[in-house]
Amino acid sequence: MVRTGEHKSGGITCLVVEKGTPGLSFGAPEKKLGWNASPTAQVIFEDCRVPVANRVGAEGEGFRFAMAGLDGGRINIGACSLGGAQRCLDEAVSYTRDRQQFGQAIADFQNTQFMLADMATDLEAARALLYLAACKVSANAPDKSRFSAMAKRLSTDAGSEVVNKALQLFGGYGYLKDYPIERFWRDLRVHSILEGTNQVMRMIVGRDLLRQ
Ligand SMILES: Cc1cc2nc3c(=O)[nH]c(=O)nc-3n(C[C@H](O)[C@H](O)[C@H](O)COP(=O)(O)OP(=O)(O)OC[C@H]3O[C@@H](n4cnc5c(N)ncnc54)[C@H](O)[C@@H]3O)c2cc1C
Repeated sequence: MVRTGEHKSGGITCLVVEKGTPGLSFGAPEKKLGWNASPTAQVIFEDCRVPVANRVGAEGEGFRFAMAGLDGGRINIGACSLGGAQRCLDEAVSYTRDRQQFGQAIADFQNTQFMLADMATDLEAARALLYLAACKVSANAPDKSRFSAMAKRLSTDAGSEVVNKALQLFGGYGYLKDYPIERFWRDLRVHSILEGTNQVMRMIVGRDLLRQ
């Protein structure tokens, strides 16, 4: 996406820059808290010349293309959080049945049951909203962007909260790399930042509500 004009959103044009184009290079892989299965690096353009034949659509259409892709991307990120959180909930149910403290399984403490109940409830609520938003994106509904933003915000926040509670239920073992939870805790954290931060999601929802 390159700026080709003055207007805040209308001056952006989409280009395909082939790998191997002189001036195109990539930074070193970033060292990250999580998401280590997916390499992240800067894309660097230095005096990179691109033929006009590589332009996608008309000049100035880039912002519209970028926005069109974002709703689906937000559903994807929300779904990643739901999947990670479901795994951690399942792990927590299994672990709390096995782990004995004060002469009984920790699953028998009411506090444990209440925590598991809240985790399952919040996860199902987030899943229901995410599926609704996905249906709206598929149907190209007029409110699809608001629903994608609401679903991304709720799924990623709820997902991280569920994983955090699962880590708590694992006690000290939850913090160890020998057990599965800490990796999900780190991997899901970035979902509140990626594909638009959750503050930006609130801006999209708030503006859309006030426009009506
Ligand atoms: C692992 C990883 C992979 C990534 N992969 C990609 C990729 O493939 N492609 C890509 O393009 N980008 C990628 N990114 C970048 C990512 O999309 C951005 O980090 C993200 O959109 C947030 O932008 P920023 O980092 O510039 O934060 P900033 O915009 O600087 O935000 C910093 C803080 O200020 C808040 N803030 C900013 N503006 C406002 C406002 N108007 N009102 C209220 N609060 C505000 C934010 O919510 C945040 O809390 C990746 C990032 C990471 C960590």
